[in-house]
Amino acid sequence: MDLKGLYREIVNEHNLRPSHKGQMENPDLVLRGVNPSCGDDITLQLKIENGVIEDALFNGSGCAISQASVDMMADQVIGRSKEDAIKLAGTFMGMIKGDIKDEAQIEELDEAASLQDIAHMPARVKCAVLGWKTMQEMLEHPEKAENISTENA
Ligand SMILES: [Zn+2]
Repeated sequence: MDLKGLYREIVNEHNLRPSHKGQMENPDLVLRGVNPSCGDDITLQLKIENGVIEDALFNGSGCAISQASVDMMADQVIGRSKEDAIKLAGTFMGMIKGDIKDEAQIEELDEAASLQDIAHMPARVKCAVLGWKTMQEMLEHPEKAENISTENA
């Protein structure tokens, strides 16, 4: 399978069978992310304990790339510290914008690295980064996120 085929396969798999789509009970942080240019509209919910992301779920709708990207993101950030997750989001966005080309750094993204070629599709960049941007925003500025539970947040 060529690289393009692999990319399509991964996006399809996450889009059709997302592992992290749903409604969380008692999330600590909730933030909606919208990409009007495509119509992607997601709500990201995080469970945070002692500074570590214990769980991440999203709901909403959007194109295959936005949905697959946020699902891959949840895979990668569960179990990471907030700081680590913010750093990973920076790596992902740097890769998608074509600013980060270092392979060792990109490998940290694991499956999400398969979205690297989006860098050559400017119209899809906002779709790919939506979930990551939303997560970064809610972790860096928890006061903007809807704080459902005040403990641990
Ligand atoms: Zn989109």
